[in-house]
Amino acid sequence: INLNAGPSPLPQAALLTAASSLLSYPETPGMGIAEISHRSKAFEGVIHQANADLRQLLEIPDNYKVLWMQGGGLTQFAATVLNLVAWYRIKNQTKPEEEVEAQYVVTGSWSAKAAEEGARMGVKTTKIVDGKKVGGDKFKTIPEASEWQLNASAEKKPAFVYYCDNETVDGVEFQAEGAKAFPFDKIDKDVPVVCDMSSNFLSRPVDVSKYGIIYAGAQKNLGPSGVTLVIIRDDLIVDLDAALPYGGARVPSMLSYKNMAANDSMFNTPPTFTIYVCSLVLRSLLETPPLPLASGARPLSPLSSYADKKSSLIYSLLDAPEGFYLGTADKDVRSRMNVTFRLKGGEALEKKFVAEASEKGIKGVGGHRSVGGIRTSIYNAVTLEQVEQLVEFMKAFQAANSN
Ligand code: PLP
Repeated sequence: INLNAGPSPLPQAALLTAASSLLSYPETPGMGIAEISHRSKAFEGVIHQANADLRQLLEIPDNYKVLWMQGGGLTQFAATVLNLVAWYRIKNQTKPEEEVEAQYVVTGSWSAKAAEEGARMGVKTTKIVDGKKVGGDKFKTIPEASEWQLNASAEKKPAFVYYCDNETVDGVEFQAEGAKAFPFDKIDKDVPVVCDMSSNFLSRPVDVSKYGIIYAGAQKNLGPSGVTLVIIRDDLIVDLDAALPYGGARVPSMLSYKNMAANDSMFNTPPTFTIYVCSLVLRSLLETPPLPLASGARPLSPLSSYADKKSSLIYSLLDAPEGFYLGTADKDVRSRMNVTFRLKGGEALEKKFVAEASEKGIKGVGGHRSVGGIRTSIYNAVTLEQVEQLVEFMKAFQAANSN
């Protein structure tokens, strides 16, 4: 049972097909999928089908492009800034020396890192939310939208508002609805919302039309590492060089969304094998039936039904009255992908927990090195049966170590 935070497990059927296609791809007998040109008809078929399947799964509107880029989430921390500042400068014909602001909603370790990179790119970075400040020096909460320092009435608008939908390290996730959903209605309509969905991509339906840019590193719910999906609204795609008279710096061609869009993500050689495996995972998601609910009612989406059910099994243990396991995130912002907790018994017991889990074949449950504790990452390819086995192990460990 592989509960690593990423790279993480992939659907078995997809991996079996990928393995056989590495040796010989059915459309190019004798040549494996990693051995053919990205300009070949066979590979074009792969990427086109992957785009179509992704569009179907997330109901992506026609005025959005899907781009396959390299460099991981970290590269997008910079690319989103460089492209949207250029868009903003062109749109507002700024004076070259004029500073451009970007607003960051910091609810965990990854959005904090993104804000740092934004500042490195030379934008005025404002943290309109700082989860650590309200969480007692820990990322465990998302403040109510009424407490966000939004200045919607200011004459000068920010180039964008940035947030991370699921904080992988801290186990904090924006909820699909209610008070802890992302408050789109509070954001000025002219200001694009940029979202890092690396660790909860394809785990629930998303209203793409509310976003300027969504991006996600593949290596959790989508495929192997090496590719990052970017979903971007057409009007935000600009010629970066055209922004130069209004200020800013030259940007590498590889980071230009315009170049990627104009070349169907093949501005240079894309990671073909990685994209192929992603295409198989997308196919398998399309073919997964939703989990029937106990009541007999069927949830709307297969994307969310498993994630809801699996995470609730673990959280119900964290909420048990004995308090043996202590959830680290506030209940109303708990992640359905990365369940983070501590043991009341302390660090030595946590070490024992990790070691005994490993002996039982349950791997990758140690918390991120920056925060410690326990983290069980239960992405889409972790099955319900595996989570049930984890829960059995947790119950047995509790019984053996309670006194
Ligand atoms: N954003 C989130 C939410 C992540 O979980 C990660 C990595 O785990 C990253 C960004 C960084 O991604 P990468 O390692 O692909 O640059």
